[in-house]
Amino acid sequence: MDFTLSKEQRDIIRAARKFASGEFPDRALEFDREEKFDLALWRKACELGFVGVFIDPAYNGAGMGFLEHSLITEEFWAVDPGIGQAILSTTFGSEDLLLYGTEDQKQLVLPKLVAGEAIISTAITESDAGSDVTSVRTTAVKDGNEWLINGSKMFNTNGTIATWLLTFCLTDPDNPSRHDRHSFFLVPTDRPGFKAKKILGKTGIRASDTADISLKNVRIPIDNIVGKQGEGFHELMAFFNRTRLHICAQAVGLARGALDEAVRHTKERRQFGAPLASFQVTQFKIAEMATWIRAARNLYYEAAWLVDQGKLDHALIAMAKWFSAEIAVRCADEAVQMHGGYGYIDEYKVNRLYRAAKVLEIYEGTKEMEKTIISRAILG
Ligand SMILES: Cc1cc2nc3c(=O)[nH]c(=O)nc-3n(C[C@H](O)[C@H](O)[C@H](O)COP(=O)(O)OP(=O)(O)OC[C@H]3O[C@@H](n4cnc5c(N)ncnc54)[C@H](O)[C@@H]3O)c2cc1C
Repeated sequence: MDFTLSKEQRDIIRAARKFASGEFPDRALEFDREEKFDLALWRKACELGFVGVFIDPAYNGAGMGFLEHSLITEEFWAVDPGIGQAILSTTFGSEDLLLYGTEDQKQLVLPKLVAGEAIISTAITESDAGSDVTSVRTTAVKDGNEWLINGSKMFNTNGTIATWLLTFCLTDPDNPSRHDRHSFFLVPTDRPGFKAKKILGKTGIRASDTADISLKNVRIPIDNIVGKQGEGFHELMAFFNRTRLHICAQAVGLARGALDEAVRHTKERRQFGAPLASFQVTQFKIAEMATWIRAARNLYYEAAWLVDQGKLDHALIAMAKWFSAEIAVRCADEAVQMHGGYGYIDEYKVNRLYRAAKVLEIYEGTKEMEKTIISRAILG
């Protein structure tokens, strides 16, 4: 068993850390307060090769693995979760295209994502279909040489700025199995009938665009179905088994950022004539945070490594997603606690980390859904 990262992987970490710590801190508060982002930063990250490293060289990607993407994600989120999400979520959907897209779809979309020329977004969630994705009611109906799409989607990351929306639709409502009724479609967002409305007031990751989407008689070419008709649910589960690794890396990065802030602050801040770090209660909290982070990182490294080896373990991915999100929330909470009143003010980075952490237990499978997957794998 070898737990060491290769020289190339260590170089990736160093480069991602340098980029994030050089570019993010000065703008993080502004983006957070104003709920906006500067896409020039995303383009710069693309130019430097940080976006879509898992995309095959045939589509201008670096042909690396999900582990390498995770290493970059961890570094970006350790500095600022909002900016990290704004940059790296721009490929959310490419994982599905790599698995199930046609050659034409891959050639059309993937090189543009890597080059910083386009953004893909994935739309599954609806008002009555959250954890229960089989309840999705947005329909796609064949009409001559086109698909006609009608419905609405919620909480869509990058919905107002995406070039394409990978959209999960009901195509086979009469199929007796609710797991065989849906399909994915590549919907260009410039089609008549497509509307996106930015959601304001998120608790955290406020640099990241989130939107409600409405699709009214949106017509797309017949070839824009991604994967097989009726197989969408099964394809979605395979897709999540890749993208949930990104969330693990987000969580471990955020937790590490919280630990770094806690260490810095408790060494500097003095009360009762001594640094906070000299009190045993502080030392134990730091020890616990560091241990949780290490455990969560080892879980997701193993899960990502197995995916890259073609030996996916879906229960392990669920364990890594649940555990890393939970420790991110705990670490951010402890870090705020150690900052006292300062941690309650948004000027302090630890405050942004605290507000960002909660979403990790919600999106791409709530912690309850992850535990359901784990317990089913054990109990049958
Ligand atoms: C910032 C942000 C970005 C997002 N980006 C996207 C995106 O890009 N694309 C997209 O499609 N979606 C996106 N989402 C939506 C996200 O994936 C959903 O919010 C999530 O899947 C949960 O669905 P829900 O909000 O409807 O909650 P619900 O499913 O209503 O769940 C509410 C609570 O009930 C629990 N629960 C539900 N069913 C069960 C059960 N059977 N057993 C036990 N507990 C249960 C859940 O665990 C949760 O705690 C985003 C959400 C946010 C907040």
